[in-house]
Amino acid sequence: MKVLFVSSEVVPFAKTGGLADVAGSLPLALERLGAEVKIMMPKYAMVKVKGQKTVIGKNLEVFFIEDERYFGRDELYGTKFGDFPDNLDRFAFFARACLGLAKKLRFKPDVIHCNDWQSSLIPVYVKTLYGDDPFFAGVKTLLTIHNLSYQGLFDKSQFSSTGLGAELFTINGLEYYDKISILKGGILFSDFINTVSPTYAREIQTKEFGCGLEGVLQKRSSDLAGILNGIDYDIWNPATDRYLARRYDLSSSRRKVDNKKDLQRTAGLPVSAAVPLIGIISRLADQKGLDLIAAVINDILKEKVQFILLGTGDDMYHALFTTIAKTYPKKTSINLKFDAVLAQKIYAGIDLFLMPSRFEPCGLGQMICLRYGTIPIVRLTGGLKDTIEEFDPKTHRGNGFTFEEYSSRKFLEAIQRALSVYKIKTVWEKLVKKAMSYDFSWESSAREYLGLYKRISGR
Ligand code: ADP
Repeated sequence: MKVLFVSSEVVPFAKTGGLADVAGSLPLALERLGAEVKIMMPKYAMVKVKGQKTVIGKNLEVFFIEDERYFGRDELYGTKFGDFPDNLDRFAFFARACLGLAKKLRFKPDVIHCNDWQSSLIPVYVKTLYGDDPFFAGVKTLLTIHNLSYQGLFDKSQFSSTGLGAELFTINGLEYYDKISILKGGILFSDFINTVSPTYAREIQTKEFGCGLEGVLQKRSSDLAGILNGIDYDIWNPATDRYLARRYDLSSSRRKVDNKKDLQRTAGLPVSAAVPLIGIISRLADQKGLDLIAAVINDILKEKVQFILLGTGDDMYHALFTTIAKTYPKKTSINLKFDAVLAQKIYAGIDLFLMPSRFEPCGLGQMICLRYGTIPIVRLTGGLKDTIEEFDPKTHRGNGFTFEEYSSRKFLEAIQRALSVYKIKTVWEKLVKKAMSYDFSWESSAREYLGLYKRISGR
């Protein structure tokens, strides 16, 4: 099986969110299963590789699409003042460059696996601009939607940047309420579509989660599946994680507390094994339910707890957490930045992780937590619903604490339930061990993708 995997971000080269984690780990898992995969991504200023190609895994080539005008910038998609105004030009160029490069390399894939709007023009091009090109005859496309709320919307005046004929700017094409929706193009033109959890695949076909594309998605529902993301168990591994003060595994989970103390020290919090340490690592965006955090944070901090946050995003939330830091200097550590190393220390050092998302296509944070024996408190939506189940202290069923209704009261109740179980040391230790024994590695999901490629390509 030959797969061209196209993504606008790939770990370890460039990352803003979960897409990069997936793009840096799923292809490796596919390679282990015997697929021949090549990755293509833009060469941003932050990509430190010299030249246009490198190899990861055993023999998996990663190609960088280079163009100083479009990608020689520090950020991927925009600055804090907004998206780059030439994003359509940038990613239309990227899509064509990937197809051009595949041809130049004479790498004819069975499937081109596209991800999110940034590579959604590829399925459109394969069926239109390249429709008569014998090289692409029989090449199938799969579009994975990692987050439907980022659609690649542009003013219609920019349509010529796509290089497509004006007849495609209609309701049955890329037109979306008088704008251009690149993601809609991907949904309509790809041979198959999937999202990153079974629940999200159902949710996006409803008005509540469909972001206006529910109709288009319903039309394609027979070609739409949900495959849960995995996480890279080599990167996220408390037994080998070189950033931890003390490594641990299932049999030595008690050592986790040394990481807690180390984190408390580095974060300037009073060092205490007993006090519950609650954390968040997240993009600071509305999606992540930060208004619920804002609503409960004072109540939480009334209890005997400590709170650590790592995140960056909307100015409004930066202001909110800056105030929290000033109000509770001895109980909180607020880190408004992107810091992959600190993230690993936090996953290992905290006891409880908050993820009260409004919607969550899959979510990686909760799976990373479990791997580190940290217990997630989540809202039951999308992939959170497919991975986390309420813990029952009597039967020991479940792996976290959950709530469904989007309300601060329900959220607070879930936190209080978690804190009361935390007090029963023997039960908590069992829960930590149980969390660590779940398997959310890529293995089984990669097999599902391979099955899907076979189904789409008929090979
Ligand atoms: P999303 O893709 O919506 O941002 P996910 O839960 O799928 O959410 O993935 C988020 C990923 O980004 C996780 O690996 C998380 O650890 C990481 N992450 C988010 N914010 C930061 C940050 N400020 N510093 C380091 N890592 C972060």
